[in-house]
Amino acid sequence: MTVAVIIVAAGRGTRAGGGEPKQWRPLAGRPVLAHTVDAFRGTGRIVLVLHPEDMARGQALFGGTVTLVAGGATRDASVRAALDCLEGSDVTRVLIHDGARPLVPAQVIRDVLAALDSTPAAAPALAVTDALWRGTETVTGTQDRTGLWRAQTPQGFRLPDILAAHRAHPGGAADDVEVARAADMAVRIVPGHEDNLKITFAADFARAEAILRERTKMDIRTGNGYDVHAFTEGDHVMLCGVKVPHTKGLLGHSDADVGMHALTDAIYGALAEGDIGRHFPPSDPQWKGAASWIFLDHAVKLAGMKGYRLSNCDVTLICERPKIGPHALSMGETLARIMGLDPGRVSVKATTSERLGFTGREEGIAAIATVTLISD
Ligand code: MG
Repeated sequence: MTVAVIIVAAGRGTRAGGGEPKQWRPLAGRPVLAHTVDAFRGTGRIVLVLHPEDMARGQALFGGTVTLVAGGATRDASVRAALDCLEGSDVTRVLIHDGARPLVPAQVIRDVLAALDSTPAAAPALAVTDALWRGTETVTGTQDRTGLWRAQTPQGFRLPDILAAHRAHPGGAADDVEVARAADMAVRIVPGHEDNLKITFAADFARAEAILRERTKMDIRTGNGYDVHAFTEGDHVMLCGVKVPHTKGLLGHSDADVGMHALTDAIYGALAEGDIGRHFPPSDPQWKGAASWIFLDHAVKLAGMKGYRLSNCDVTLICERPKIGPHALSMGETLARIMGLDPGRVSVKATTSERLGFTGREEGIAAIATVTLISD
């Protein structure tokens, strides 16, 4: 299952005041959209749909950590543009989210994704609890609220279904559930959350900032990982995802990427989720020769599913040779890309052990890693 998250932020809504579109206005010191994107880090590939005039701004803010797509004149057209760009990829499920809902709780995202295991479409909503009236200046009638819901996002679908539904839809839908229903898709309602507000009016900023202040009572976790692999015959070693030429190789069931293993174990450790061996048993032949980014990607996604995102990590490789220095930057960038992190939050460094012990005798390479996770 590969998940993509489409964040729709191409609108020009200025009802929230401030002179610029609400998704770019600051919320607790950062653009609304930066909070929205952060809410989905670790969930899957993020596709951000922006107004064509905002593409450079998006590139400056998010760099290569998200896929930027230029939106169309309507919300439908913007979603279509993002869906079109996912066609033919390995993405199987897609979450479509309003850019102006920056505070979507991790639990809501998890519930939508979990529902997609057993239904073709799912979306969060809250039951209407206030009495409903009709009228303009005076009340002319009341409306039974039974069976009425306040719709939220992310709305989740299987990619081929929603792509076909959008292509068949004449346009003008209020949201993607409307598009799905027009294609006769069953849409399951999962619990929404009051914090998942859509910023529309100026007062919503104050409410969103109050929620964020409450959330800063956050849960911070650290984890550490340690791994060793012995040298064997070969002409290169894989270290932190980078192929480094060497006079020896590293022995292991997978590609023996000792740095990436230590880092992956550090994430599992922070989550109290055991280690790589628990999630990818060495006794299982399908992991023989596996590329280690599969393990790291799994650990990062597991953190996301449990409501945590990575804040930073630090990996130290311990060996006499090969020399790590010339490769450290590219190792850091490779790890950052796999984890969906800013490279400034990923450190890779190395030390020798002054020719002492097994690393000093060049019998193998050791690695230690530390990570910090922050609750959503
Ligand atoms: Mg290992």
